[in-house]
Amino acid sequence: MGFAPYLCRQHKKSLAMSVPTISFPTKNLMKSVLKFSENVHYQTCPGDLILDTLRLGEGVLSDTGALVIQTGEFTGRSPKDKFIVKDEVTENTVNWNEFNIPVDEKYYHIIYKKMIGYLEKLPELWVRDCYACADPRYRLNIRVVNEKPWSNLFAYNMFLRPTEEELENFKPEWHVISCPDLKLDAEECGIRQHNVSLVSFKHKMILIAGSGYTGEMKKGIFTILNYILPQEKNVLSMHCSANMGENEDTAIFFGLSGTGKTTLSADPNRMLIGDDEHAWTADDIFNFEGGCYAKCIHLTEEKEPEIFQAIRHGALVENTKFYPGSNKINFDDGSVTENTRVSYPINFISNTQEPSVGGLPKNIFFLTCDAFGVLPPISKLTPGQAMYQFISGYTAKVAGTDTGITEPKPTFSACFGAPFLPLHPGKYAMMLGKKMQENKVNVWLINTGWTGGSYGVGKRIKLSHTRAMITAALEGKLDNVIYENHEVFGVAMPTSCPNVPAKILNPRNTWTDTNIYDERAKCLGGLFVKNFEKYAAGISEEVLAAAPKI
Ligand code: ATP
Ligand code: MN
Repeated sequence: MGFAPYLCRQHKKSLAMSVPTISFPTKNLMKSVLKFSENVHYQTCPGDLILDTLRLGEGVLSDTGALVIQTGEFTGRSPKDKFIVKDEVTENTVNWNEFNIPVDEKYYHIIYKKMIGYLEKLPELWVRDCYACADPRYRLNIRVVNEKPWSNLFAYNMFLRPTEEELENFKPEWHVISCPDLKLDAEECGIRQHNVSLVSFKHKMILIAGSGYTGEMKKGIFTILNYILPQEKNVLSMHCSANMGENEDTAIFFGLSGTGKTTLSADPNRMLIGDDEHAWTADDIFNFEGGCYAKCIHLTEEKEPEIFQAIRHGALVENTKFYPGSNKINFDDGSVTENTRVSYPINFISNTQEPSVGGLPKNIFFLTCDAFGVLPPISKLTPGQAMYQFISGYTAKVAGTDTGITEPKPTFSACFGAPFLPLHPGKYAMMLGKKMQENKVNVWLINTGWTGGSYGVGKRIKLSHTRAMITAALEGKLDNVIYENHEVFGVAMPTSCPNVPAKILNPRNTWTDTNIYDERAKCLGGLFVKNFEKYAAGISEEVLAAAPKI
């Protein structure tokens, strides 16, 4: 088979040589891993990781050469099993809440010991050195230790890949250890159930046990960067995608899971900077990652050609099924999970910015997937409304990444990323507010969700229409059109937009019964107001005035 370009030329040699290069800063881990050094696959190239996965019977190649695996019990993150060690570093800095769940340091040591003991007994394991943050000023070196070769392929795809030269003197700062098949004793380990995703800022360690969901590794690193960058480097970290036009005009797209960050940032006419995690410094925007992690459900070549063609040799596909009797992936099959995914290095997309660093943003899009069908498909926000929307972080999930969510449900998640933010949301909001002011950016609210009625009655807005609206905004084609204000949300809706039927621009016009629309709009406005109560103290008049009128 056509593996040649991906096979390491010196695979055997690098394996033998890998032993002395594995020097873990944590002494115990060094000893443990060295004991089994001949079975440590270090810095294995994608082609060999694929072969290792096939050899172990843990994956199958699709007809286009992508590796298809099943992540097991977990097919999404498990937020209730994500803990942060409460110690002298984090005690007074982390915003302890339902997403930042404290665990005593003594349990960290117990879990760490269990995991090392488990690694020692494994017949083989995979270790990879990589890094996060494309701007060298903020680079964070990471060593990933995996029980599974396909988890290690995910790390290759998703984190930044050091050159041979950079590997010579590589000093890992943070470690990620992932043991999907290790089941822990909840009581003994001070956790909720058999699985855990544990962050220790003191030991610079992310421990993942009992879950094979690869996204835990990626979002683990995202979580720590959301602490380190704002807290220690005065840099704003963001849950957003980013792309850049010919004249270095960067656009960023905030949004919760499933709102369209990955889909809408893959625009062949603009250079992709990244699809999920970025920082905004005084002089640039940079990606944390080296790859994309796209949803596969209902993927078609026609609607999402960029992502579709990225599903090839080197890509790692999770939890999809084949058409019976073939190796052709059935993207409509959500029987394992609706959250089917593919990871691939960013350069699998045809038009990327390399390195993944871009100019300062000229446009910000807040993406929401409003299953109530209330919010307009595109609207322009005042600075006050922008802050209000950012702090609210609204979407309505229909099927999500989080274990257990299969029904539509409104979600408010501060800064469009509460599960990944160790600091108080006010910290990120203040930094963004300041940057928006300084940089004179346009801020748009995009509803990629329902039109013509709520979920069940209306339908999801056409991807081609959403793309046309974003293109129009980016090309300045909405600068001189007539706007009308939304009755409840106050946002400015353009009355015309190139390549989009004017009728759909005001959602009220798309509902058969406008009375029901008005009622639903007030109802959703009420949910915003209720959610915002907890932030009211310390919020400026301008932002408070942007609340929906109910
Ligand atoms: P995550 O944070 O979980 O990675 P995301 O914000 O990157 O989520 P996407 O992966 O882009 O979300 O998912 C958006 C999904 O919605 C895709 O499956 C896409 O095909 C689908 N979709 C349908 N209609 C639209 C639309 N009008 N705009 C954007 N996406 C749409
Ligand atoms: Mn995404």
